[in-house]
Amino acid sequence: MLLNKDIIMDGHPTLRLRAKPVDLPLSDEVFNTLKDMMEYIENSQDDEMVEKYGLRSSVGLAAPQINKSLKMFCMKTLDENFKVLHKYAVVNPKIISYSEATTYLPSGEGCLSVDEDTTGLVKRHKKIKARVNLVNLETKEVKETILKLSGYPAIVFQHEYDHLMGVLFIDKISDELPESEAIEFHYEED
Ligand code: ZN
Repeated sequence: MLLNKDIIMDGHPTLRLRAKPVDLPLSDEVFNTLKDMMEYIENSQDDEMVEKYGLRSSVGLAAPQINKSLKMFCMKTLDENFKVLHKYAVVNPKIISYSEATTYLPSGEGCLSVDEDTTGLVKRHKKIKARVNLVNLETKEVKETILKLSGYPAIVFQHEYDHLMGVLFIDKISDELPESEAIEFHYEED
């Protein structure tokens, strides 16, 4: 099981490499790494595990962050309406198109590989279309698919995708962004 100590921090050279494509079919080793990565995210969203292991909450983790320079990441989050779950184990992604319209998280982005106190506003495309190999973490099946994302999951995807290019969110921080472009969360209590 992955713990905080397995996550490398800004300043480590692996975070600045362009990650290498993952060989398909997936090796057992790579498959197990993806499972560990998703498990870390899920544990970090579980209060009991967070307390027990002192995890930082997260919605995504890219392989370079655990010092494996491979083009793959996992993400697990709800959309900004708290309705649709976006849980993906992604291998060899390529963003093929994106909207001119941009958005950003008004509370700022953060990253497991950057000091917890550091957040910043980062301009992201509002919508993206990516060609990815999605891995089924139960069956090991890999399916090439076009993922269309908008809003919050699109922001998370772009953050993780940047990790595969050796880019961190701190490279892209803007001092100020138009309030009208900020993403809005719509949480309705039942
Ligand atoms: Zn990150």
